[in-house]
Amino acid sequence: MKQIFNPEIYKLEDKINEPFIDKNEILEFLEQGKKSSLAEIKAIIDKSVNKKRLSLIDVAKLLNTNSKEETDLIFEGAERIKKQTYGNRIVIFAPLYVGNYCQNKCSYCGFNKDNTSIKRKTLTDKELVEEVEALEDTGHKRLILVYGEHKNYDAEFIAHTVRTVYGVKKGNGEIRRVNINAAPFDVEGYKTIKAAGIGTFQVFQETYDQELYPKYHLFGKKTDYNYRLLSHDRAMLAGIDDIGIGALFGLGDWKFEVLALVRHTNHLESCFGVGPHTISFPRIKEADGVDQNMFKPVSDEDFIKLVAILRIAIPYTGLILTAREDEAIRSEVIKYGVSQIDAGTNINIGGYSHPEETHKDQFKINDDRSLSEVIDKLLDNDYIPSFCTACYLKGRTGEHFMEFSVPGFIKNICTPNAILTLSEYLEDYGSENTKIKGYKIVERHLSLLEGPIASKCKERVERVRNGERNLLF
Ligand code: SAM
Ligand code: SF4
Repeated sequence: MKQIFNPEIYKLEDKINEPFIDKNEILEFLEQGKKSSLAEIKAIIDKSVNKKRLSLIDVAKLLNTNSKEETDLIFEGAERIKKQTYGNRIVIFAPLYVGNYCQNKCSYCGFNKDNTSIKRKTLTDKELVEEVEALEDTGHKRLILVYGEHKNYDAEFIAHTVRTVYGVKKGNGEIRRVNINAAPFDVEGYKTIKAAGIGTFQVFQETYDQELYPKYHLFGKKTDYNYRLLSHDRAMLAGIDDIGIGALFGLGDWKFEVLALVRHTNHLESCFGVGPHTISFPRIKEADGVDQNMFKPVSDEDFIKLVAILRIAIPYTGLILTAREDEAIRSEVIKYGVSQIDAGTNINIGGYSHPEETHKDQFKINDDRSLSEVIDKLLDNDYIPSFCTACYLKGRTGEHFMEFSVPGFIKNICTPNAILTLSEYLEDYGSENTKIKGYKIVERHLSLLEGPIASKCKERVERVRNGERNLLF
């Protein structure tokens, strides 16, 4: 299933005046989902385990569960689907903040234009190179570049920073996939950025509730709810078919936001034949100059449950959990569906190469472990930390659902690539102790491979140990 986009049927102009998210429709689904039995919840989860897509009412029923029995079923189901879809891999990346100038006023964000307590900065090319070198020195291969929304951060500028990042090679270090989290562009702008070779373009709707949206978006281009809602449509029209959606949890009702994320996914699938590559679900964190009293915090319990429900509702999409959350929550939520995490995170502008300087962050992070500490912990828990970028490098974009729908894809492609990229990390950046632990995991997962891929992967691990790199399937 690649693009089924039909320009005769799909017209961007038709969507401009009428948002495809209808608040009343979502509220109606949530209302209808209030009635369900334990047997029904079990049947809904089984449906997803058996690779059938859930309806919005099915998801609403999961969201409305209250009893421990029902919640336990959700956790078990999410864990099964996660294992079945992703195996033991966890993909690792780092965010790199390029500039914090912003012309908008989002009431939750430390970068908002009226916040005078932070120091504004945009990395120069030289500083950007220093940042990437510092990240490569620790072993990173995948980055997400982050920008405020400002006239200086236009499509040309973003494309230039992407090319600069790809150009930095230090030792065996290189960045193989650059993702973006920036203000949305028009179709032409996205085309310029795509030409620089980006992976995913992320834009979060923050809240899908049209009535609440203006309460938090007080000034600037981001006040336009529907322009933002159509960000991914325009990206698809520009040929970017790896896109990331998300909601900022703590603005509206969490159940509403989860159902709207599923609705957004359905919209992208029906218009373009490709759903989101990733879904993000940040919770609001403290930020300088931001009054926390205006938000509706989502409890840890609800947060863990919402991740599990997203996993069951949309099994093929990557779920991203960032260092906004602390180590304990991250370890818990990984079990129920998260497939990508950041590690060794520093969101200070210039913070990787100059950790001593602080410009004050966009918000506070709660997991400041180094990349090697995160890797050690994942290995202790039998995960395979993966730096894999093979699908992107081999042009398998917009096809991430293969992991879910193509039999043997994980066994023959994803797990071997995770094993190979972990081996590269161990050779180039692992301490003696990490190497011992890491190669135990490599050996164990090699032994679980079957058929011709087992010997091929084993042979490539040997080649990595002898100095070859980027031998991906
Ligand atoms: N300026 C662009 C934009 O708004 O789309 C780029 C992204 S912004 C730097 C990245 C994301 O951080 C936002 O989309 C929002 O969801 C999240 N964010 C902003 N303030 C936050 C806070 N106080 N706590 C947690 N996440 C926050
Ligand atoms: Fe600016 Fe983005 Fe922060 Fe809003 S969330 S103030 S657009 S950086």
